[in-house]
Amino acid sequence: MRTKDVTAHVDEKMPPTAAKPVLSVCSLSVDYVAPPKPAAHAVQDVSFDLGRGEVLGLVGESGCGKSTLALALMRLLPPAGRIVNGSVRLQDIELLDLDEARMASLRWSQIAMVFQGAMNALNPVRAVGDQIAEAIRQHDRTIGKAATVRRVDELLELVGIAANRRTQYPFQYSGGMRQRAMIAMALACNPAVIVADEPTTALDVMIQAQILDLLSRLRRELGLAIILVTHDLGIVAEICDRVLVMYGGVTAEYAPVDLAFNAPRHPYTQALLHAFPDPDHPQAKLNSIPGAPPRLDALPPGCRFAPRCPQAMERCQQAAPALYALPDDQFASCFLVEDTAEDRRGSLDHG
Ligand code: SF4
Repeated sequence: MRTKDVTAHVDEKMPPTAAKPVLSVCSLSVDYVAPPKPAAHAVQDVSFDLGRGEVLGLVGESGCGKSTLALALMRLLPPAGRIVNGSVRLQDIELLDLDEARMASLRWSQIAMVFQGAMNALNPVRAVGDQIAEAIRQHDRTIGKAATVRRVDELLELVGIAANRRTQYPFQYSGGMRQRAMIAMALACNPAVIVADEPTTALDVMIQAQILDLLSRLRRELGLAIILVTHDLGIVAEICDRVLVMYGGVTAEYAPVDLAFNAPRHPYTQALLHAFPDPDHPQAKLNSIPGAPPRLDALPPGCRFAPRCPQAMERCQQAAPALYALPDDQFASCFLVEDTAEDRRGSLDHG
């Protein structure tokens, strides 16, 4: 097993919080329903907790459900998306019980999102500062013009953009600056949680590093809790405290980052790590995972990874494994860990 030295980064990360989580997700399930086609079970029984200042990485291949999960947390699913089960508690408020008006008042002010490809989402014919100002005024109709400008300047400087660029247009910003402006917009109303969906995709490595540094600083200085949706395990090693590996809409593994990298228990996590470049052996051949992820409207009857799993057994074709709780706050949904499991759960205990 190839291992990653993530300890250098771990020291810089926030200690796990013993306090009540800012966000607690329990047994969340999302279907896409488009009759007469069968429902696609895009997310099933996913649970996790997120503390103040913590960063959770959501990883997996395309179509594993990670972006659907992110949109479900914001209650911004497309029309065919249905939350069919579960709970999303944000600072003691059950988001799934709220009517749309109340949810809209919490969206951006309590939980905000940086969308995939966000750097192209700015309006090209309006100054960047005006677009951030609009986000502020949407949630505070009483704020005056001078206070709004001051807040815009503060936000721009927070993300490393000089305040005097407030009046410039998106085409006058580089790609990295546009992405940072989108992060400033997400921060406009001081949310407790930010969901960032592939925030560094399409950026070159230098700009990627700047965005990751910015997110690290924001969680350190503001106590911001961040959910980072990514397919890049390097980003997870760099910035995340915990990682939730999704496969076929379910949790394959949920663990502290150092354990997930150095002692992964689920064969899918192990395969992902073997497919990831090793900085200590840059010439080493990368492995791929044969086969393709399951169709979410035609899932295999047993373990969803069984058709691609090199360690699959007969029972894996017949029944789906539970999510087993292992020592040190590690969870894996694989029969191979059953003997060492401390507990067997369909979801994490939020009792
Ligand atoms: Fe592989 Fe079976 Fe474990 Fe699924 S339950 S990951 S098929 S060994």
